[in-house]
Amino acid sequence: MQTAKQRLDKVLSSIHDAANRAGRAPDDIRLIGASKAQPVAAIRELAILGVQNFGENFVQEALEKQAALADLDLIWHFIGRIQSNKTREIAKHFDWVHSVDRIEIARRLSQQRPADQDPLNICLQVNIQHEPTKAGLDLESLDAVAHTVNELPAIRLRGLMVVPQPTDDLVAQRDPFAQLRTALERLNAQGLQLDTLSMGMTADMDAAILEGATMIRIGTALFGPRERK
Ligand SMILES: *Cc1c(COP(=O)(O)O)cnc(C)c1O
Repeated sequence: MQTAKQRLDKVLSSIHDAANRAGRAPDDIRLIGASKAQPVAAIRELAILGVQNFGENFVQEALEKQAALADLDLIWHFIGRIQSNKTREIAKHFDWVHSVDRIEIARRLSQQRPADQDPLNICLQVNIQHEPTKAGLDLESLDAVAHTVNELPAIRLRGLMVVPQPTDDLVAQRDPFAQLRTALERLNAQGLQLDTLSMGMTADMDAAILEGATMIRIGTALFGPRERK
């Protein structure tokens, strides 16, 4: 059994190596602990080791963990599928939402963001490979959605997110990430100011960093296997 410290050191050194290969600064890549199905104690352990950002997929589970960890200064990211009846809780309890894929959801998050909080940071999730079971918008509708979402008052559109199909081949892994980066560059050329590419998980983080990821969402490599429900 590896300790949390050993797992974290390994992830940090992978980030470092991939950043070096890409000619990038490791500090430009924010590590998010994908903590779904992981116990509060494991999150606390990583937080004490210096991980400040955590991503959750389920609202109820996240709220319970946030309450149990309220003594720590953590940054919470919502990375799961968004049901419209959950937007109020998400708008109130998260700093970032990576998985926005409809204008309607963005509008609700903007309306429901409490006035005394900073604007909510948003990424649009793109379904690059047109997978029918996966969340995310098509690349073809991205530009129009991005420009509309960018005008909403209580959210800040920060960038794009993708969860590609798993593959072991590094070249195949890089392709959807490169497409996401190109889409971000295109939106910026159209006048948006996006600074975030949320891409890369345990199995494809090197490919994501090589293609410019600024946030990677790491579960298994950081926590070990998830508890089965
Ligand atoms: C679970 C999850 C991750 C982390 O996956 P690992 O393969 O365990 O690193 C990242 N992003 C999203 C959206 C997830 O649901």
